[in-house]
Amino acid sequence: MKILKFGGTSVGSPERMKKLLDIIRPEEKQIVVLSAVAGTTNSLVEISQAYLDGDKRKAKQLTDALHDKYKTFVQELFSTEEGRLKGSELISYHFTLIGSMGTELFTPVEEKVVLAQGELLSTTLYHFYLSEIGVRSALLPALDFMKIDEDNEPMVEYIGSHLQPLLDQKADNTLFITQGYICRNSFGEIDNLRRGGSDYTASLIGAAIRADEVQIWTDIDGMHNNDPRIVKGTSPIAQLSFDEAAELAYFGAKILHPQSVFPAQKYKIPVRLLNTMEPTAAGTLITHESEKGRIKSIAAKDGITAIKIQSSRMLLAYGFLRRVFEVFERYKTPIDMITTSEVAVSVTIDDTKYLDEILKELQDFGSVEVDHDQTIVCVVGDFAYGTHGFASRVFEALKHISIRMISYGGSNYNISLLVNTADKTEALRSLHNRLF
Ligand code: ADP
Ligand code: ASP
Ligand code: MG
Repeated sequence: MKILKFGGTSVGSPERMKKLLDIIRPEEKQIVVLSAVAGTTNSLVEISQAYLDGDKRKAKQLTDALHDKYKTFVQELFSTEEGRLKGSELISYHFTLIGSMGTELFTPVEEKVVLAQGELLSTTLYHFYLSEIGVRSALLPALDFMKIDEDNEPMVEYIGSHLQPLLDQKADNTLFITQGYICRNSFGEIDNLRRGGSDYTASLIGAAIRADEVQIWTDIDGMHNNDPRIVKGTSPIAQLSFDEAAELAYFGAKILHPQSVFPAQKYKIPVRLLNTMEPTAAGTLITHESEKGRIKSIAAKDGITAIKIQSSRMLLAYGFLRRVFEVFERYKTPIDMITTSEVAVSVTIDDTKYLDEILKELQDFGSVEVDHDQTIVCVVGDFAYGTHGFASRVFEALKHISIRMISYGGSNYNISLLVNTADKTEALRSLHNRLF
């Protein structure tokens, strides 16, 4: 069984949706995971924000505008009266639900219900379209098997044991369609896997049913060696190891959801990144193999806060770092980078929800300094101990840029540097010119 995930632009218009059959072979066993139509989730975020702000009028305006877009979508997607009628009824159902929310009791629970409508719409519209043109498919409701636990961690075993019976019930069916992004949480409420989460869905399903391959179909021909939105002349990478891909995804390569590599990696399921607009392009293959002796790619993650704790009590002391880390653990705040000296430690975080509380507790250990608007620039490739010269090329490229932190040697395949966000573009371009 293969898992094929199509992102927002790949289902972004009726024309694009119809074109999916150039890639999907309905007679082969596969699960197709769809994102919401491009732009929909952003609109649903805006609608939710209007509700949260208590601005019911704005929420209605935005909802009506999105509904109008879908009315046109339905007219163009279906070619029969019956198809258009079914499509119109479907979208009315979803937009009535979105419009029925009240401002008084609009909590994060209702917000997640609103955010889920995009994937519910795209998958059902596509299923209806296939049925109109006589292609058999079965819808798998993601809310019946995708689950996260109380720590928001996906439950792979649960997913497998709830998905497999649904597949078995329709064993004579080959083409299955399901929603990316959405899931249920430990309370059974509708929840999601964070923005860009459809990649994660595909990888989790792949892991849960031990699929042969996961294909992520998007609007670019694979993972590029730098951020194509910022740097000109980037090129696709043919092969990446799971570890390299995980670093790139985590440190900002938007083509992959940050956590999406891990489930596939755990069960050794190859992941291919492919281009819907250019289906014959080779794309990127992610497997356990790693190519030695090369720098592969550069990525950057914004929105980083650096915290430095300086204390003479750290000198020759043991247990100090543990106490510092425990503060972050108490506030469930992950640390991305860390560097130490004998009298100080610097760490970075990207979740600042509990920053004030964390800083207050850290002040018990010594003096604390905070830098906002930082960016982690991550260079991925072969930095194994014993290879020479790669690190010096990285530093040579950045000699005109202030570097706040450097992390090297934590793994064999990455150097991470912390710079001011204002210097990010120059850092990425200069590294690109030097390294490739
Ligand atoms: P989808 O909607 O299909 O999930 P995304 O917009 O989430 O697509 O991801 C694809 C986009 O990721 C590309 O259009 C590209 O602009 C961006 N991107 C950022 N960094 C990279 C990179 N290193 N390689 C390829 N694409 C990247
Ligand atoms: N539709 C969701 C988003 O825009 C999930 C995804 O596209 O992967 O974030
Ligand atoms: Mg995406």
